[in-house]
Amino acid sequence: LPDPDAAALTDPDVAVLLPRPDAGSDKYRRGVVGIAAGSERYTGAAVLAVGGALRGGVGMVRYAGTTAPVAQVRARWPEAVITTLAPGQGIEEVGRVQAWVLGPGLGTGDEAHAVARSVLASDVPVLVDADGLTLVAEDRTLLRRAAPVLITPHAGELARLLGVPRARIEARRLEHVRRAAVELGVTVLLKGSTTLVAEEDRPVRINLTGSPWLATGGTGDVLAGLAGALLAAGLSGYDAASCAAYLHGIAGQDGPLAAADVAEALPGAVRSVANRPREDG
Ligand code: AMP
Ligand code: MG
Repeated sequence: LPDPDAAALTDPDVAVLLPRPDAGSDKYRRGVVGIAAGSERYTGAAVLAVGGALRGGVGMVRYAGTTAPVAQVRARWPEAVITTLAPGQGIEEVGRVQAWVLGPGLGTGDEAHAVARSVLASDVPVLVDADGLTLVAEDRTLLRRAAPVLITPHAGELARLLGVPRARIEARRLEHVRRAAVELGVTVLLKGSTTLVAEEDRPVRINLTGSPWLATGGTGDVLAGLAGALLAAGLSGYDAASCAAYLHGIAGQDGPLAAADVAEALPGAVRSVANRPREDG
């Protein structure tokens, strides 16, 4: 049924929101995103989140992590500015960023807790995904902060956050994404075969780009990096989430694909939307 409080995203919607560099741009003004992701066990999530941000057109990435993910990020992305965190250390010494991505592959132990607390204590917008969502599900007061929060759960992660069975969320996704936005006081991007973006007092945006080929490990990490880049560029959580879901879907339209291929396809996705000829000439 058509719902007046929900609308599908289109190319022109995203084209007007997309940040574009101009002659006056420098890397800082284009957006510096901090990425707190990866752990000794899950190094790939860090590489993919950094890739999503860089291929999405960020000004600069500051990556913070422990030894193993740092080695992988350094090898794959020389563009990233890296801080190696000692066990238990927070992100206070990382340097200025305009937004943080928290959580892909971060783990849920004491070290991850310390990182999560320090990121959420910062005064910039934070995107929380994956293990970051597990940490905030244990203590939802972590989400109470002055600067905006964007969470990017799939149905299982949202189920844990709301204390509702996953099947009930999957049966009524619109209702639950709205409820999560209001109850948690954050912007919510609910992943799945279609992606929904909700914020209190705004219509739910529905993303229809993408394909089932995206159902493969690591694609969510690329999405987190991309959305974080757009937050750092100054988009609201609602707009950053909408644009990221749309572009990520275009980049994942054809398979088979691995998550790294989605990151590699992001520049083409951005071009296809940003350079699209205008219908009105
Ligand atoms: P994650 O759940 O973090 O691994 O992220 C998976 C990504 O793939 C999200 O962007 C989902 O929206 C997308 N995705 C997963 N399954 C499907 C599907 N069946 N059709 C389209 N996109 C999907
Ligand atoms: Mg995920």
